[in-house]
Amino acid sequence: MKTHKSKPIIVVGSSNTDMIIKVHRIPKPGETILGGEFSTAPGGKGANQAVAAARAGGDVIFIAKIGNDLFGKQTIQNLKKDKISTKYVSIDPQHPSGVALIFVARDGENSIAVAPGANANLQPQDVILASNALENGGLILMQLEIPLDTIKTAANLAAKNNIPVILNPAPATQLPDDLLQLCSIITPNESETEILTGVKITSEKSIIKAAHKLMDKGPNTVIITLGARGAFVVSKDLTGLIPAFKVKPVDTTAAGDVFNGALAVAIQEGKSLIDALTFANAAAALSVTKLGAQPSAPYRKEIIDFLNTHKNN
Ligand code: ADP
Repeated sequence: MKTHKSKPIIVVGSSNTDMIIKVHRIPKPGETILGGEFSTAPGGKGANQAVAAARAGGDVIFIAKIGNDLFGKQTIQNLKKDKISTKYVSIDPQHPSGVALIFVARDGENSIAVAPGANANLQPQDVILASNALENGGLILMQLEIPLDTIKTAANLAAKNNIPVILNPAPATQLPDDLLQLCSIITPNESETEILTGVKITSEKSIIKAAHKLMDKGPNTVIITLGARGAFVVSKDLTGLIPAFKVKPVDTTAAGDVFNGALAVAIQEGKSLIDALTFANAAAALSVTKLGAQPSAPYRKEIIDFLNTHKNN
């Protein structure tokens, strides 16, 4: 089901293929061990958030770069299954598609190496080539797995056209002020907040202090996700925790990605901040009850049914 708002959500970001081997323990340097089951899964924060937004009811255009290889072709097929526009997913003739090689040990420990490949070659020029789509977007959603200059170019285009930008600053890093200035909403988790602001998150007071440090640099809304506790919002008119829904967690991989994708849809629909955060908390809670990243992103109907049955959470 699509929303009634006609303008699309533009996701600018990464896509990867996760290649996972289950092992009894993580191999040591120089060691070869015989592993167990092997599986592949579509991933990358950009693609995860695009899929989460599309399933939550958004009309999504994805701006990304893949290699001229089998993984890239599979990525396009997967995105199309969720009715995401891939018109601006371009093929890099020189670099392979992004991959993550993941060992998962029996005790849950993991070891991951990511080769960004074509993601690292998503250039400002690629955003400029997609400027027609961008300028007609309703909202831009980005993360930090692509070059910063590309993110800045998209944010600048958005600002010139009065289009809100949601930045999910993951993976954690410090950010230049000229980028923060262009963001409307920023959605760090706890550790990302600490790295961005230098404020150790130990209490509600420290959360509010960190959020104000970020707001001083530009964003009018700061949403700090706190895992099983929920999401803490600080904006001009609203400060407080929107508690998470209580569920039995199975796999929290990509909880943040599902949260951001669903949040973008709710904001684009014009929901109030509280309702949008409740919608995002519900989508993310549903995702932690299922294994995997993209496979765990819920569809709009599931989110609405969940909200209807958890009204007094
Ligand atoms: P990230 O995955 O980016 O580290 P968080 O762990 O903060 O982000 O989770 C993002 C959101 O996912 C939370 O704000 C919450 O809505 C939801 N969430 C995460 N873990 C749980 C959980 N165990 N139970 C319910 N909701 C959860």
